[in-house]
Amino acid sequence: MKNIIVAIDGPAGAGKSTVSQIAADKLGFTYIDTGAMYRAVAYKALQQKAEVTDELIISVLPDIEITLKFENAKTKVFADGKEITAEIRTPEINKIVSKVAALVPVREKLTELQRKMGQNENVLMDGRDIGTFVFPNADVKIFLTASVEERARRRYEELKAKGFDVNLKEIEKDIAKRDKLDSEREMAPLKKADDAILLDTTGLSIDEVVEKIITLCENAR
Ligand code: C5P
Repeated sequence: MKNIIVAIDGPAGAGKSTVSQIAADKLGFTYIDTGAMYRAVAYKALQQKAEVTDELIISVLPDIEITLKFENAKTKVFADGKEITAEIRTPEINKIVSKVAALVPVREKLTELQRKMGQNENVLMDGRDIGTFVFPNADVKIFLTASVEERARRRYEELKAKGFDVNLKEIEKDIAKRDKLDSEREMAPLKKADDAILLDTTGLSIDEVVEKIITLCENAR
């Protein structure tokens, strides 16, 4: 039987990874967080030097080995064998990751890896360009979004709970900037695929969104 590919795209803070992990677990699919892969490259560059230039980012690419492990509805992220799950979700990484993701050599390398990951099993993959570019023939395509205020509030709560000293207005500005960079970049920009189903999560609970995703996936089986 052919393996099923579910593509979930959308802007920062739309709740993609939260709902995708739960939905993938319930469906028995492997969840692939492609944002974590771009974050891993940003992390490795930032480890070398505080000032992250395009040259520096490209220089860490040939040797980086990125691994994702999805177990018990949670993703663990590894770079070169070292776990970096928590390290990639900091305000510093948030600030530089879209610049990293706009570089063509980075996108080429990670797209190739993502296509390999979706070759042999049922996967639910989330990101910005999964339904438009990585898997244009995905079986289910969902574009998850929410208002910028709600997305900023969610990120604020998430970072505050981890003990970061954060400011809601700053986060709102960062998210708007990241949306702009992600939507305007040349290669595989963030945009809804024509055949993706639009799901606005503003005001919806996590359970409600998961339910909707599962129904869409079951209809495709
Ligand atoms: O989803 P997350 O916020 O972790 O993604 C981090 C960043 O990685 C995004 O802002 C975007 O710049 C980039 N990204 C991308 N393409 C993907 C997934 C993420 O460009 N498929």
